[in-house]
Amino acid sequence: MNPAALTLHDAGEKLRKHELSSQELTLAAFQRISETDDKIHAYITLCRDAALEQAKQADERLKRDGSTLPLLGIPIAVKDNFLTRGLRTTCASKILGDFIPPYDATVIKRIRDAGAVITGKTNLDEFAMGSSAENSALFPTRNPWDGERVPGGSSGGSAAAVASDQCIAALGTDTGGSIRQPSAFCGVVGLKPTYGRVSRYGIIAFASSMDQVGPLTKDVRDCALMLEAIAGHDPADSTSADRSVPRYSEALTGDVKGLRLGVPKEYFVTGIALEVEQAVREAIRLLEKNGAAVEEISLPHTEYAVAVYYIVATAEASSNLARYDGMRFGHRAGGKDLLETYMLSREEGFGAEVKRRIMLGTYALSAGYYDAYYLKAQRVRALIKQDFDAAFQRCDAIITPTAPTTAFKIGEKIEDPLQMYLSDIYTISINLAGVPALSLPCGFDANGLPIGMQVIGKHFDESTILRLAYAYEQATEWHRGKPRMED
Ligand code: GLN
Repeated sequence: MNPAALTLHDAGEKLRKHELSSQELTLAAFQRISETDDKIHAYITLCRDAALEQAKQADERLKRDGSTLPLLGIPIAVKDNFLTRGLRTTCASKILGDFIPPYDATVIKRIRDAGAVITGKTNLDEFAMGSSAENSALFPTRNPWDGERVPGGSSGGSAAAVASDQCIAALGTDTGGSIRQPSAFCGVVGLKPTYGRVSRYGIIAFASSMDQVGPLTKDVRDCALMLEAIAGHDPADSTSADRSVPRYSEALTGDVKGLRLGVPKEYFVTGIALEVEQAVREAIRLLEKNGAAVEEISLPHTEYAVAVYYIVATAEASSNLARYDGMRFGHRAGGKDLLETYMLSREEGFGAEVKRRIMLGTYALSAGYYDAYYLKAQRVRALIKQDFDAAFQRCDAIITPTAPTTAFKIGEKIEDPLQMYLSDIYTISINLAGVPALSLPCGFDANGLPIGMQVIGKHFDESTILRLAYAYEQATEWHRGKPRMED
């Protein structure tokens, strides 16, 4: 078996038993990259030499103290919106060009300290704005299950890299679904933690009140191990929570007895593909059979979520992206004076979707419109959050599909922003409410494309959703499916 196809926990065990070295594992991942990435295009930047050096150091550390650090020696891919010291960080935008950050994001520092090996930086929609990875200014990433289809987005490169065994696990960010939707489309596990659970310091900001960092992995246990490594308070991020980090892997008991599950009726309405609905309902039946108590619930403000998200997210983006003016870093156009240089740098540097969002957000925040749009959106956001608070009085977790369809074709939605925005209809309320949610495989459609199920939890209760997801995974085989990429 190709070592790159191993899960993180299996690879870690082999490393600690000295049955496999980190250098072998890292070489296997790069071998896989060289075999598949000319089709998939998951990576923007590869760092083979640095990775092999990190692997060598990990091997020495493994020999020295037989360390029990779960990430030690493990090849991990990182979405290209995490600042990585000395390693090009583009955010898939021309405006950052060949920007080389002078420091590491806190999460990068944590995984480096834990001995992880960074394989490279993965593709995304420019500034994480999109649902298909087609908004990358560099190239689109292709879905490993079908090269004509998108891998989802914005963390499409990370999801495709995990699904095609080009790394053992990956990091992504999720502002409105960007970890969960690509995980669903590529048949991997992806978790958006509670807002504040993981530090955002050194992550290129899109919508700061919703951005969260999380893992994309081959199974649920890997997801728990990754979260343990990256979660925790960071004084450099004032929104990071000062709460202790549970041993998430200890929550994986394999049983769901006594768990109360809510199934929101608003998530099974027009627009959902029949096969997606059937697969998720089948999964719910299995959980019920295994001892969970299932009840239908209501999240009545769901229908406003897309509208609210696209006001709040664009407003925050317009302000966050004001810093890209060609002066301090990135692309600078030649202009005859300062103002023209600003304008031309932004005109040349940003892609169409990013410009659309800056304009929408600037409009929503402008004098005279602020009350009608931004303020109103904030009020509806509070109602959406209250829906979840009320639901969690009655249940321990909520189950929904992750996305209304399986992976769509490249080019299918790119000309129609509204259609693209609707592919996040099941994921964005979660970011507005700040609660954690995970996507895991729960079936395949008639085209052989993976279907994802979303498990939503209470604030800071990642343990319960990991427990539930793990129990489901133990009872099924979906996560074992691998894309056939030979042909
Ligand atoms: N697809 C959503 C958007 O375009 C979410 C993106 C994200 O989570 N970064 O905004």
